[in-house]
Amino acid sequence: METDLFIAGKWVPASSGGRFDVHDPATGDTIASVADGGEADAIAAVDAAAAAGPAWAAAPPRVRSEVLRRAFALMTERASELAKLISLENGKALTDAKGEVTYAAEFFRWFAEEAVRGEGAIATAPSGANRILVVRQPVGVCVLVTPWNFPAAMATRKIGPALAAGCTVILKPASDTPLTALAMAAILAEAGVPEGVVNVVPSRSSGKVVSAMLRDARVRKLSFTGSTEVGRILLAQAAENVVNTSMELGGNAPFLVFADADLDAAVDGAIIAKMRNGGEACTAANRFFVEAPVADEFARKLAQRMSALVVGPGTDEKTQVGPLVNEDTVAKVDSLVRGALEGGAEAVTGGSRPTGPGFYYPPTVLTGVAADAPILRQEIFGPVAPIVTFTGEAEAVRLANDTEYGLVAYVYTGDLARGMRVSEAIEAGMVGINRGLVSDPAAPFGGVKQSGIGREGGHDGLLEYLESKYIAVNW
Ligand code: NAP
Repeated sequence: METDLFIAGKWVPASSGGRFDVHDPATGDTIASVADGGEADAIAAVDAAAAAGPAWAAAPPRVRSEVLRRAFALMTERASELAKLISLENGKALTDAKGEVTYAAEFFRWFAEEAVRGEGAIATAPSGANRILVVRQPVGVCVLVTPWNFPAAMATRKIGPALAAGCTVILKPASDTPLTALAMAAILAEAGVPEGVVNVVPSRSSGKVVSAMLRDARVRKLSFTGSTEVGRILLAQAAENVVNTSMELGGNAPFLVFADADLDAAVDGAIIAKMRNGGEACTAANRFFVEAPVADEFARKLAQRMSALVVGPGTDEKTQVGPLVNEDTVAKVDSLVRGALEGGAEAVTGGSRPTGPGFYYPPTVLTGVAADAPILRQEIFGPVAPIVTFTGEAEAVRLANDTEYGLVAYVYTGDLARGMRVSEAIEAGMVGINRGLVSDPAAPFGGVKQSGIGREGGHDGLLEYLESKYIAVNW
């Protein structure tokens, strides 16, 4: 496969000639080397995106739509090879990788459909003096920065709406998972994306490369998915040129189980909310709050299911939980669990890092976790479920909101009125009631508080790449 930079429709080496290695998280072995884009390459990509902008913005929406639709078809046709690639460089189990390819491709299909639903508004000014016309125009050149945990879906969730809106883009993928991004570039080119409309610049000096692009006045939008820590840095940089930003940042999802819930359904939902992607998801349930009368039974049932999961290399068909992405991630999970155990928690299953190669951590359930334990404050990003008990609805809401994050929350209850009440009281951009999975290309995905700004997916996702222009008119 192509491993160079993709700029102006061509595969080119880095101007420095530099390359960096990509590793298999199951073994730590090198699987490929990729061109290491620098500041000059990033600016060349901005040149290409700026040059391609006017023609792409003027292309009929139907043309933009059909390109995206072809990209959807190609991704679907090549789903199994893409899934293998994701699994190889990210480590996730093949079933998770297949799920990601389907989810990722759906963003192309959804935004192919949205591309031809462009709308504006017309009204009469309250004074009666004139008409108010609102037209929507593409924002312009967009820099898209994505994380390693969903290397395909986080890219398509941005490229789909950007292209549908008539914007041109430079994608800077995570350096742990550049291969999937390059495979997406090849698919988009084959689908008929004109040269310069999509550019991909992997880099080991992400900070410098993204800063260089944000300093370039031709860049009008930054869409970032990643940690809150890096999001804050980029928001400050984007402020310099007052660049339009969308920020999909970290999460610390509460998973609430009320005593009136269907407990088996809650355990099924917990497995999905916790273990999709081996726990490496911003939507992963991070804190389990279970009402006291059912807490022991829930912990026992969850531990039974977690301990039965098959751990192994992601590319093995039997594997249900792959390795984590790299040494830093597994070391962080290990240290959070050790901290919780030292603070008095008990590991019902799992709880210690195995020896041997690869970045593995076993599915773990912790009970008796202290309220101030760091594991309840930080994103775990691994297969660990800390359980805390509560009494009554008010305490459940207080615990759920006791975080600076606000991405998603899960609520299990047999009383729909309670479910709705609690959903409205929880500070989060998304809530699943009796569901452990909320992500859907047709729905607005995003967070409140320090989980981000803006929404991706749904109709809202398209609006992030459009500016409203108001024209006062008399006729
Ligand atoms: P990260 O460290 O913030 O990195 C995200 C991206 O930013 C990567 O491409 C990274 O490149 C780049 N980057 C790092 N430092 C940068 C800097 N100073 N300037 C510009 N770019 C920089 O996050 P991650 O570890 O890849 O991903 C995990 C995080 O993403 C978690 O916090 C998770 O919750 C969040 N996430 C959020 C959502 C959402 O929709 N809300 C979805 C998925 C993940 P390098 O790889 O080269 O460092």
